[in-house]
Amino acid sequence: METLENTISQNLLQIKKQIPSHITLIAVSKFQPIEKILQAYNAGHRDFGENYAQELKQKYEQLPKDIRWHFIGHLQSNKVKYIASFVYLIHSIDNLKLLYEVNKQAIKNNRVINCLLQIHIAKEETKFGFDIDECRQVLKSSEIQQFQNVKILGLMGMATFTNDSQQIKNEFLQLKNLFDEIKQTISLPNVDMKILSMGMSNDYPIAIECGSNAIRIGTLIFGERKKTN
Ligand SMILES: *Cc1c(COP(=O)(O)O)cnc(C)c1O
Repeated sequence: METLENTISQNLLQIKKQIPSHITLIAVSKFQPIEKILQAYNAGHRDFGENYAQELKQKYEQLPKDIRWHFIGHLQSNKVKYIASFVYLIHSIDNLKLLYEVNKQAIKNNRVINCLLQIHIAKEETKFGFDIDECRQVLKSSEIQQFQNVKILGLMGMATFTNDSQQIKNEFLQLKNLFDEIKQTISLPNVDMKILSMGMSNDYPIAIECGSNAIRIGTLIFGERKKTN
C-alpha cells in the first residue's frame, strides 16, 4: 500500500513533469492539515497557497520559515494585519481600499508587499475581482503610485467553472491580453508585470496554453479538501 507521503510527492512530481520549468506551481493547502503540508515540504516544495488569513497565520507559525506563502482567497481589509509580516505574494487584490490597507500594513512592518490584481473574467457573479476596464482605470489613476510599499507584479484570474474548454480558453486569453496591454502601456515605479496567475486543478493545461506562469493547484496534489469549519 502506498503511504500518504508518497502519494503527495508523486502528485507533485506528476504535475511538475508536465509543466515548463518557468512556471511556478503553488500547492493550495487550504483546509489541509499541517502533516500533509509537511509532506509536500519534505518532497522539496516551497510555494503554498492559502485562502483564509487566520488559518494562514496559524500554519505560518507551525511550519518551516522558508515556505513562500501565497494568499489567494478573498481578503478582507481588517484581516491583512494577520499576514502582512510574512506573506510572499497576495494574488487577490480586488479593490483599492484593500490595496490601501496592504500598503499601510506593509509600512508598519517596514517591508514591501508583492501583490497581483485579481481580474473578474468568469461569467459567474460570485467571483471577485476588478473588471477589465476598472483595472485599466486603476492603473491610470494617480492613486496607485501613492502606495509605495506595495509592488504590483501581475494579474490573477479564475475562469468559469464549466466543462466548456473553449469558454475557459476565451476567458484566460482575455486576461493574457490585458496582462500584455498593461505591460506595454503602463510605466509606474511600483508596477512590474511579471506574473500571470491562472489555472487550477481542472483547467491548468488550458491556462498554460494561454500564457499562465503561475498555477494554483489543490485537489490534484492533496486530494479532496475536508471542510472542517
Ligand atoms: C481553492 C483554490 C484553488 C485550488 O483549487 P483546486 O481546484 O483544488 O486545484 C486555486 N485558486 C483559488 C483562488 C482557490 O480558491
